[in-house]
Amino acid sequence: MTLVKEEKILQTYFGYETFRPGQGQTINHILQLHNTLAVMPTGGGKSLCYQIPGMSMDGTAIIISPLISLMKDQVDALQALGIPATYINSSLSTGEQQARLRDVANRRYKFVYVAPERFESMTFVNVIKRIPLALVAFDEAHCISQWGHDFRPSYRSIVPNLKKLSNIPVFVALTATATEEVIHDIQELLYIADDHVVNTGFERENLSFHLVKGKDKQSYIRSFLEEHREESGIIYTATRKQADALYDQLTKRGISVSKYHAGLTEQERKEAQAAFIHDEKSIMIATNAFGMGIDKSNVRYVIHYAMPMNIESYYQEAGRAGRDGEPSDCILLFSPQDVQLQKFLIEQSQMDEASKQNEYRKLQAMINYCHTHGCLTSFILDYFDKKVIKGSCNRCSNCVERQEKMDITEEAQMILSCVKRMGERFGVGMTAKVLKGSKDKKLREFRLDQITTYGILSAYTEKELTERIHFMIAEQLLATEEGQYPTLRLNQNSVDVLKGKRPVEMFTAPIPTNENADYH
Ligand code: ADP
Repeated sequence: MTLVKEEKILQTYFGYETFRPGQGQTINHILQLHNTLAVMPTGGGKSLCYQIPGMSMDGTAIIISPLISLMKDQVDALQALGIPATYINSSLSTGEQQARLRDVANRRYKFVYVAPERFESMTFVNVIKRIPLALVAFDEAHCISQWGHDFRPSYRSIVPNLKKLSNIPVFVALTATATEEVIHDIQELLYIADDHVVNTGFERENLSFHLVKGKDKQSYIRSFLEEHREESGIIYTATRKQADALYDQLTKRGISVSKYHAGLTEQERKEAQAAFIHDEKSIMIATNAFGMGIDKSNVRYVIHYAMPMNIESYYQEAGRAGRDGEPSDCILLFSPQDVQLQKFLIEQSQMDEASKQNEYRKLQAMINYCHTHGCLTSFILDYFDKKVIKGSCNRCSNCVERQEKMDITEEAQMILSCVKRMGERFGVGMTAKVLKGSKDKKLREFRLDQITTYGILSAYTEKELTERIHFMIAEQLLATEEGQYPTLRLNQNSVDVLKGKRPVEMFTAPIPTNENADYH
C-alpha cells in the first residue's frame, strides 16, 4: 500500500517531509484495519501514527490516555493545525463535559481524547456506539498490562467492553516502554498479531547514561549545576523527604529550583510545573509524581539522586531528557543505601506477595545496572529486548571511562567457592563478611568461621567485597533468589568459572588474596 494521501497530510498539515522509522509501517497496518502495536522511543513520533490515519479515515478517532495533563496540549496542537479535536475529562465542569459530548454525538470532531475512566460512563459509551469511528488508540499502552511498571487496572478493565462495540474498525496501541512480557500481554488483550507489532527499538542515540558511585551526592549536584547553569534539567529523588531536603539545600545556596511531589497542594504543583515548562526556572527537583505527560523538549539532563525501583521507571524518567533529539545526559547517583530504601518501599506497599516478588525481581535488574562493568546503554536495551546484540555505545560512562581490563578469575573462584561452602543459604552481606574473616556474632553462630574460605580475601574491606559480589551478580556469574533478603546461589556460569572454563574480567584492580587459604 502506498501512502500517497497520508504523506500529503504529513506535509500539508504537519509540515514534515518524510515519515520517521516505523511510522509508515504502523500507519499502513492501521489503514488495512489490522490492530497494531507501535513501540517507539520517547520522541519517536508516536502521535502521528494514529493522527494521520485518524485524518485519512472516515469517522472519529478516540484516543485513550491515562495522562490527563497531556490531553490539552495534544488537542491544542491539533486545533492550531485546523484539525477539529477535543478532550473530555474530569478537569472540565460537568456542563462543559456535556456540551463537548453533544458535539461528539454530532460528529464535529476528528479526534476525541479521553481517560480510561470515561468508559465507565454509560452516557459516553452510548454516544460512542452511535457515531462512525475511525479507530481507537491506547496511548501509554504499557499501563494496561499488569507486568508494566505503571499498571492502571481501570485501563485494563475497559478493554473487554470496548471489544464488544461493533463500530470500532481497528485498535492501535502505543508505548515507549515495554518489555517482551508487556508486549505479549498487550498483543493478547487487543488481538494484535506478531506481524502488526512495529518495534523500532528503544535506543535513543542522543542520550548518554552515566553512573556515579561513591561520591557525595550533594556536592556532585552542586558542581554539576555550576557547570550547567544555562541548561534545563530534572533531578529525581526517591522520596518526598529527599526532594524537600535537596530543594532547601540548593535554595539556601542561592540556586533557583522548582519542586514537585505529591505532598504539595495542587496549586503549588501547577505553579512549579508551569515555571519549569516555561523556562522561568530551569531546574526541577521532583519525585516520580512529576513527569508523566510532561512534554518539555529542551531538558538537557535528568539526574537521579537515588536509584529508582526498576529499569522501566528509570528509562522512562531518564528519557524525559533530550526529546528534541539534542545530546543530553542521564545520570544516576548510586549509593548502597538506595537499595535498602527501595526494599523498604516494596515491603511497605500494599501489594500481594506475588507482586512483591515481581518487584524484587525488577529491583534486582536495577541493582545489576548499578554494578555492571559493561555498556550501560546495552544493558538497558537488553533488559527490554533480549534479542538486542550487546555492544558498546561509546557514550555511557562505562564505555567512556573504561580502565584497563583485569583478570579476576581467581578471586571470582574464591567468592564462588565461598558461596558454595556456605550452603547457598546466605546473602551478599554475610558472604562478604565470611570472605573478609569478620568476627560478626551471627557469622560465628552459624559456624561460618569454620569453613575453609573464611578470611580468604581478608586484604579487602567488606565494602569492596560486597561491590565485587554485586558485580558478579550483575554479570550473571552468580544467581540470587528473589525477595527482601536474596540468598546467593551458583548457576551454570559459576560452575564454568570454578572449573576454569570461563575467565572473569573486571575494569578495576584485583583483590589481593590471602596466599595460604585453600579454596579449591
Ligand atoms: P512520542 O509520543 O513518540 O514521544 P511525539 O509524537 O510527541 O513523540 O513526537 C515527538 C516530536 O517529533 C514532535 O515534535 C513531532 O512533531 C515530531 N515528529 C513526529 N513525526 C515526525 C516526522 N515524520 N518528521 C519530523 N518530525 C516528526
